[in-house]
Amino acid sequence: MLDYDEIKRQFEPGQKVNFDRILQQVIQGWQQRPKLLLHSCCALCSTYTLEYLTQHADVTVYFDNPNIHPRMEYERRKLVQQRFIQDFNARTGQHVQFIAADYRPSEWLAVTAALKDAPEGGARCHVCYQFRLDRVAKQAQALGFDYFGSALTISPKKDAQVINTEGLEIQHLYNVSYLPSDFKKRGGFARSVAMCHEYDVYRQCYCGCLFAAKQQGIDLAQVNREASQYVDAHRHDNFDQIQFHFNR
Ligand code: SF4
Ligand code: SF4
Repeated sequence: MLDYDEIKRQFEPGQKVNFDRILQQVIQGWQQRPKLLLHSCCALCSTYTLEYLTQHADVTVYFDNPNIHPRMEYERRKLVQQRFIQDFNARTGQHVQFIAADYRPSEWLAVTAALKDAPEGGARCHVCYQFRLDRVAKQAQALGFDYFGSALTISPKKDAQVINTEGLEIQHLYNVSYLPSDFKKRGGFARSVAMCHEYDVYRQCYCGCLFAAKQQGIDLAQVNREASQYVDAHRHDNFDQIQFHFNR
C-alpha cells in the first residue's frame, strides 16, 4: 500500500504531487495484471481512462452514484456507461466488466445536505468524493479486487490532489490498495473528448447533484424529460455481456 507521506517526499515542499507519475511508477512494478475496481459516474471520464488502464490491468467499472439527481438522469448515465463499455470491448477486444450499486440518494443527502450552498469544487464535493470512494473501497474489498480507483481525476473540474489524498487515506480502512492517478495528464483529457466523439457518448451539462444543478441554473424539468425519453428508448438494451460475475 502506498503511503501519502512517502509520496510527498518525492516532491519539493509546496510542490503539487504529480499523481500521474506515481501511477506510472506503480504500473511499472506490476508483475502481472491486477484486478481493479474503477469508480466512474458517467461514460465521459471512463473513456481514455479505460483505454489506458486496460493495457495493464483487468478493469471493472463500479457505478455507485447516489449524488445524481433526478433519478431518470441517473438511469440515463448508467445506460450510457454500459453502452460505452460494451462498444469499447467490441472495438478493442478488452473485457471490461460493470457493476452498479443500488440507487439510494437519501444516504448521500444525509452527508452533504448541510453543505448544499458550498460552491462546486468546494467542501460539498470533497465529502461527495470521499463518500463514493469509501463505497468503492468497501466493494473492492468484498469482491477481492487488488486495487480501487477513480476515473474522475481525468476531469479538469475535479481536484485530483483531493481525490487522491482521500483515496490514499480510505485504503487504510480496507484491505485493498488505492490506485493514484491523474488521467488528464499527457493528453488524457483531450483523448477523452475525442473518444466521446468516436463512440458518440452523451456528455451531461452538470456534474450530477441537485445543488450544483441549481447553482448552474440548469432546467431540471427539461433534463428529466430528455433523460426519460432516453431511458424509455433504451431500457431493453442488453448488456449481459459486460455484467460482473459475482461467483467467480
Ligand atoms: S466527473 Fe463528471 S464527467 Fe466525469 S464521470 Fe463524473 S459526472 Fe461524468
Ligand atoms: S457538484 Fe458533483 S462532486 Fe460536487 S457534490 Fe455535486 S455531484 Fe458531488
